[in-house]
Amino acid sequence: MTERTFSIIKPDATRRNLTGAINAVIEAAGLRIVAQRRVRLTEEQAKKFYEVHAERPFYGELVAQMTAEPVVVQVLEGDNAVAKYREVMGATNPANADEGTIRKQFALSIGENSVHGSDSLENAAIEIAQFFTDDQIVG
Ligand code: ADP
Ligand code: MG
Repeated sequence: MTERTFSIIKPDATRRNLTGAINAVIEAAGLRIVAQRRVRLTEEQAKKFYEVHAERPFYGELVAQMTAEPVVVQVLEGDNAVAKYREVMGATNPANADEGTIRKQFALSIGENSVHGSDSLENAAIEIAQFFTDDQIVG
């Protein structure tokens, strides 16, 4: 089934000029970038986006890191896009990520792990709506 998922290229990656390299991995996997914008997240946006992790010990650090420098927000489209992008990203901790995944190739640590991808179709819709209107997504 054709799906859309939400992606963020995180500050550790934009800082190292890896937007194009990461997009190349995304496109080689058969996912289409149907919307993309470089933005600086506000603290309010980052806190809301990662609300489910509010009680975790790393929440403050995560919000600080995500707001410190620009990110690239994206909508990816393709067959099974949600699960496929999770595969392409690799495990949260790059030490556990498979060869060829974005996190294996580029992530610095479990916190600075280069990309975000939605974990379900339901969350993908919620996250996409947080950053894009329908007319900004061109499939
Ligand atoms: P994922 O991004 O793979 O879906 P989670 O949803 O569990 O992972 O966590 C969200 C983000 O929070 C991670 O991508 C990472 O940046 C950060 N994070 C998760 N676990 C830790 C941790 N133990 N220490 C520091 N940061 C973490
Ligand atoms: Mg997650």
